[in-house]
Amino acid sequence: MLIDNHNRKINYLRLAVTDRCNLRCNYCMPSEGINFAEKDSLFTIWELCKLSEIMVGQGIDKIRITGGEPFVRKDLMVLLRKLSSLEGLNDISITTNATLIGPYIQELKSLGIKNINVSLDAIDKNTFEKITRRNQYDTVYTNLIRLITEGFNVRINFIALENQNTQDIIPILEVMKHYPVSVRFLEEMPFNGGSKSFNTINWDYKKILDHIQSEYPEITKLESPKTSTSINYRIKGHKGTFGLIPSFSRTFCGSCNRLRISATGDVITCLYGKPRTNLREVMRGKDVESQIKEHILKAIGSRSKTGFEEQEKYDGIFENSMTSIGG
Ligand code: SAM
Ligand code: SF4
Repeated sequence: MLIDNHNRKINYLRLAVTDRCNLRCNYCMPSEGINFAEKDSLFTIWELCKLSEIMVGQGIDKIRITGGEPFVRKDLMVLLRKLSSLEGLNDISITTNATLIGPYIQELKSLGIKNINVSLDAIDKNTFEKITRRNQYDTVYTNLIRLITEGFNVRINFIALENQNTQDIIPILEVMKHYPVSVRFLEEMPFNGGSKSFNTINWDYKKILDHIQSEYPEITKLESPKTSTSINYRIKGHKGTFGLIPSFSRTFCGSCNRLRISATGDVITCLYGKPRTNLREVMRGKDVESQIKEHILKAIGSRSKTGFEEQEKYDGIFENSMTSIGG
């Protein structure tokens, strides 16, 4: 079992499989993209399989596949098939922009993968295309509805972006009220690859809640697991739920159970800091299993208690892009 230096159990791995993406969301990266990693710097699919197996052996029981856009990797299904065979891995989740997932939906279902988070920051097509800088709205929306109707446990990630999409907060709830889906509103974070800089935000989780409450007075707060990053609610008459994720306010750090590994092997113990170590060459060296364990134990033995504490230790972390961190 992995326990950090604050006695928190680490059982959740967010594994980025690529830093590349076919969209250019303006809160994630500049229009020209970032300096994407050379192919050789990325883990191969076999390395990702091996790494996952080692991590599950260490007590990881939930893996979320993220990126970049996971489905730009043509060999992604090789990894997902491997994950679905790992004993002790109870939860395989994917975060995707849902542009490329269509051909894989049936196989994902047959592998028993249930939890899919779809990033959709607008219900209005023009707004979506302005934010993502690409014209993929129809594909995303079709795939989203397919995933829901095929019975996946779908959560929509919607980042509240001042002057861009907050007019869509109520409309997206109105459209989604007919579906068993959770719409989660996230605070924007400064990891945008230098698209813009900011020290604070206007649309924090309290403002988002006030806005929703002013439209729907009959809202019930739901019980959430201790390690959940979202505060969840139900609106009377809606089939699904909605959640608020204070990713900038960071109210959830105390119970953080997660570890991130980037597509190039960086081990990230907190979003608001720098990687503690890198595993790429370790995966390519000798004694892989024991070396990985040693590196991981060392990394989680020096975690900050909160994102604010971590942020104070480093300069320049806000130049990062989520596409290389994995969200
Ligand atoms: N491409 C996939 C997607 O968009 O769902 C997976 C990778 S993406 C980097 C993972 C998550 O990070 C997405 O839900 C995205 O909305 C979120 N994200 C990216 N940049 C962000 C930012 N600046 N603030 C908050 N969330 C961000
Ligand atoms: Fe791509 Fe996801 Fe970043 Fe959008 S948020 S540019 S879909 S990696």
